[in-house]
Amino acid sequence: MTQLTQENYYGDTSYLTNSRYKRYQQCQAKAFAVDNGSWVEERDEIALLLGNYVHSYFESPEAHEQFLAEHGEKLLAKTGKNKGNLKADFIIGDKMIESLKNDDGFANLYHGFPDDDVQKEMIVFGKIEGVPVKGKLDSVNLTRGYFVDLKTMKSIYNKEWSEELRKKVPAAVNNILGFGYHGQLGLYRELLQKMTGQEFRPYIVAVSKENVPDKDILKIDDEWLENGLNQLKSEIVEVWAVIQGKQKPIECGLCDYCRSQKKLGQVVYLSELIG
Ligand SMILES: [Zn+2]
Repeated sequence: MTQLTQENYYGDTSYLTNSRYKRYQQCQAKAFAVDNGSWVEERDEIALLLGNYVHSYFESPEAHEQFLAEHGEKLLAKTGKNKGNLKADFIIGDKMIESLKNDDGFANLYHGFPDDDVQKEMIVFGKIEGVPVKGKLDSVNLTRGYFVDLKTMKSIYNKEWSEELRKKVPAAVNNILGFGYHGQLGLYRELLQKMTGQEFRPYIVAVSKENVPDKDILKIDDEWLENGLNQLKSEIVEVWAVIQGKQKPIECGLCDYCRSQKKLGQVVYLSELIG
C-alpha cells in the first residue's frame, strides 16, 4: 500500500475516501467515468475555493499563505467596479473567518488548550470490510479525545425540503445527510479508534455563507453516526469491486453523464412516470 503523506494524499487513488464513495453511491457509471478521466465533473469552483480559504486560515498561517500564493489570483474580481479587489464570495469568506476567529469557544475547541496535543489535517486510514479507506481530519485533539470538522454551508437554519426525511428541515440537515457527513464522521471515528485504540467524539463546526455568518457546534447523534457507517459498510465492497474493474458500473439513468450516453429506442408510458 502507498504510504500516505500530506504531499501525495490528494493524488493517491489506492484508498477510497468518503467523497469518492458518495460519488459511486450516486451513480457508479458516472463516478467510474470521472475516475478514468473520460468525464469531467462540473464542480462549483468558487464553493471549493471558499471552503479552502476558510480552512487554510484556521489550519496555520503557513497553510493560508500557501493557499493565497497558489490561488490568490482567483479570489480577485477581474471586471466591474470591484476589479482588483476580493470577489463578493471571498468578502463573505473574510466575514466567516472573522466570526470564528473572535470566538473563544471556537478557539478552545479547534486549537485546544495550550498543553493539548492537537493535530491539524491528520491523515487516518485503515481497512473497512477489507477495503482500504482514508480520510483527512481538520483538527484532532488527542489529549481530550475528540475531533472537529469545519464545514462551510449556505445556511444552518433556513428551512429546506428533505427528500430523504420527507419534511422541511434546517439546511444543515440536508448538507450533512446529502454529503454523507454522518457516514464520514462515523468512518473517521472508527479509523481513529483502530489507529490509536482510543474513543473519539466527533464535532462539526458549521459556519454559514450568509452575509452575517451563522455558526454552531453540531454533534451528530451516535445513532446517526452508526447508521451512516453501516450504510457505507454495506455498499463499500461492491463499490470497490466496480473501481477495480471486477464489476460493471451501474448507470443511474438520470444524471448528466447518463443523459450524455442516452440513445432513444424504448418508449416510456405516462403511467410509468406517475409511478
Ligand atoms: Zn448516472
